[in-house]
Amino acid sequence: MTNLIPICTQHKKEKVWSQTVFEYTEDDISVRIENVWAWVCPEDGEPSFTPETVDALIDTVKELIETAKRAKKRSPALTDYAIAVG
Ligand SMILES: [Zn+2]
Repeated sequence: MTNLIPICTQHKKEKVWSQTVFEYTEDDISVRIENVWAWVCPEDGEPSFTPETVDALIDTVKELIETAKRAKKRSPALTDYAIAVG
């Protein structure tokens, strides 16, 4: 960790390093990953993810989106999936 604390430009407040939800949306499909560490604005909870975190998650997210696309084709009526690990 660096000791550079990012500031929320909108609320002019120091962001807080805490766990939040990583959300990624592509073509009507959104993936949510809970308990991801990020800089979070104390005012509105807006997260800033570090490039390291995004790099670590993006492959998993892309795979989940591909899987969801196939599932959507197979069973268009099912629109909400949740995956839990651990
Ligand atoms: Zn803010």
